This record gives sequence, structure tokens and C-alpha cells, in this order.
Amino acid sequence: MQNKFQKKINGLFIDPQIFTAKFVTACNACICSGECCYYGVYTDKKEYEKIIEIKDRIIKSMDDSQIKDPSNWFEEPEADPDFESGIAVGTEVYNGKCVFLDKQGFCTLQKIAIEDGEFKWKYKPLYCILFPLVIFEGALTIDDEHINRMHYCNLAKNHTVTIFEHSKEEIKFLLGEKGFEELLQYKDEYLNSIKEEKIAI
Ligand code: SF4
Ligand code: SF4
Repeated sequence: MQNKFQKKINGLFIDPQIFTAKFVTACNACICSGECCYYGVYTDKKEYEKIIEIKDRIIKSMDDSQIKDPSNWFEEPEADPDFESGIAVGTEVYNGKCVFLDKQGFCTLQKIAIEDGEFKWKYKPLYCILFPLVIFEGALTIDDEHINRMHYCNLAKNHTVTIFEHSKEEIKFLLGEKGFEELLQYKDEYLNSIKEEKIAI
């Protein structure tokens, strides 16, 4: 596939704007109520199957603002090449939020993993982990469209770090240690190149 970005790591193009665009230091559901989860998310078919496998466990930790019938949790599957299996399955929205978001603004999929002593992202869909980043047309890039809907992390006055700094743990999770090291090297190269461009002007 043709792509406007130069660098590729683990088969993914890298949008260098992740090194310069600004964001909040850290997510804080007490401030934002987890509003990025108000619209649902697209899961990979494999993630969807993993979630359905543990439906009884999920229901146990849902509150009265959430719908407990799993037949209401997902949309119809659709083809999408940005997903590992090639098939995306969207989560439904109920009570104005993703079916897995509880009334305190926490994701039930992450909550149950922590409650059970598992890795915190064991059941969490990749695109939820990555936001404000997204994989779009084969590139790791910034999800501007979704960021623009937010009322806290979209505001410049709350921006203190770069998206890269904000999302280090998530990027490491995506690319692995080796891929992350390669990204760090690319970051330095890219930032030096734009510095040189500025000096030349
Ligand atoms: S990405 Fe924004 S809306 Fe989502 S949890 Fe973080 S600060 Fe809140
Ligand atoms: S699955 Fe969890 S993290 Fe993802 S949108 Fe739903 S509540 Fe948010």
C-alpha cells in the first residue's frame, strides 16, 4: 500500500506528528468521566470472541447503568483491513456510553482484569488502549476526529506533553521493546531533522 509516511516499524507506518502534537499528561476519568468511551469502539473479531467467552464474569462486575444481555453488546461484524483478523465488530452504545463503561467512567473489561489479578489490558480492545492514537490505513497516527469530540483532553490549556509522552506505555505494548527502541531512534532523527529545517529557514 502507498503511504505518505516514511518510517515503518513492525509492519506499521509511523506518523511523526505523534512526537510533536500535544495532549494531557495522563488520563483521569474523575475529570473527563471517560468520555472517549461514550461512542463505543471497534474491536477485532478475535477480541470480540474473547469478550464473549467471559461474558458471565463481565456481567458480575457490571452496574445498573449497563445492559447485561450479551446479545446487545455488539454490532454486526464488518470487513476492515486495519484489524488483524480483517473483521471489525463495534461495541454498542447504551445509556449514552459504550456498553462496557460503568457509571463511574471505568471500563468493565479493564476493571475485571485488575480485580482478578490479570494483566490490566488482557480483555481491553487494542483501539481503546491506543486512543488518542489509532491505526488508520496501515499507519500509527493521531485520532484527530475522535479527539475533537472531547471536552477535556481536546483543550489546548490542558495540553502539557506530547502524545508520544502521554502514550509511551501503550506504544510499547503495541510495538514491543525492540520496536519501541526503534521508535525512540526515529523520534530523535525526526526531531533533529525539523530543527535543522528551522535553522535553514
Ligand atoms: S483520552 Fe481523554 S477522554 Fe479518554 S480517558 Fe483520557 S483524558 Fe479522558
Ligand atoms: S471497551 Fe472499555 S475502553 Fe473500550 S470504549 Fe468500551 S468502555 Fe471504553
